[in-house]
Amino acid sequence: MIEVKHLTKRYGTHTAVSDLSFQIEKGQIYGLLGPNGAGKSTTMNILTGCLAASEGTVTVGGHDIFEEAAQAKKLIGYLPERPPLYLDRTPMEYLTFVGQAKGLGKDELDRQLGQVMGATQITGVAHRLIKNLSKGYQQRVGIAQALLGSPKIIILDEPTVGLDPKQIIEIRDLIRTLGKDHTVILSSHILSEVQAVCQTILILSKGRLVACDTPENLEKRFAGTTSVELVAEAAEWEVCQILEPLEHITGLDVRVGDGGLCSVFLETDGAQELCREVFFAFSRAERALLHMSTAQTSLEDIFLELTGESPRLQDEREEAVP
Ligand code: ADP
Ligand code: MG
Repeated sequence: MIEVKHLTKRYGTHTAVSDLSFQIEKGQIYGLLGPNGAGKSTTMNILTGCLAASEGTVTVGGHDIFEEAAQAKKLIGYLPERPPLYLDRTPMEYLTFVGQAKGLGKDELDRQLGQVMGATQITGVAHRLIKNLSKGYQQRVGIAQALLGSPKIIILDEPTVGLDPKQIIEIRDLIRTLGKDHTVILSSHILSEVQAVCQTILILSKGRLVACDTPENLEKRFAGTTSVELVAEAAEWEVCQILEPLEHITGLDVRVGDGGLCSVFLETDGAQELCREVFFAFSRAERALLHMSTAQTSLEDIFLELTGESPRLQDEREEAVP
């Protein structure tokens, strides 16, 4: 449906999106995930033809978004980060205006108005001023305008930002329903958000695509690493000596604490028996192991690690500052 090749966008000297290539297949819900400033909105603005790229190409349904803008744009409904709602109008007036701008004739417009207002459940507020609607309902109006013109692809930039938990659940359900007969791309800076509704996750970090896979595969790909945290009554050199002969340790971080204690953070290649070996190794050396726990890498860890926002990495960065 969408093919992005070597997309780069520079604002002056700042590169917001860098050499992005990916494909969007028909009929799936995709999540564009990344922290604030990662380049999500810039990417979406280019995909929808609202912004020109510095380099690279985007084709939508085989049409180049710049060369054949009209054909390409017909296939896309877009809810930008800040939807251009006319606050002093009613949803009915606003959607009528948008439908006319999209070139719908009167009968077709009437039919589609009923359809999109039904799908987004705003029929009951069709004649109230948009400014008096809750944020959740305003967002529904924004989604309704994206649906006008029956586009095959729906692109939603942070559709649940600023909503309360009940509204988030309602909008998620709406997105799942849309996903049944549309290709949907939504962006979010919150992992749980995309995990809840998306079949494929694209992770953006500093304008670069750092991963693109199903949530399950992402977890599998990185699940090989299990971390073990322990606290031992031993000196740093003793801890290193005790752990040195053990296999399956792929990373080691020892920190000296108070009262002759050491905190140790181990990364392993997933071998569960390592805990037993660690226990007996400390026991043979007659050093007390006061605490030991294991943690499987979660999708959250993967996201933080890939986007360079991992708390452990941040600790290291802070320590590097004199
Ligand atoms: P996201 O949507 O992931 O938060 P954006 O695409 O909005 O990220 O922004 C990516 C980067 O580009 C940020 O560093 C942002 O400050 C910068 N940026 C976005 N829009 C502009 C603009 N119009 N002019 C200059 N820099 C911009
Ligand atoms: Mg954004």
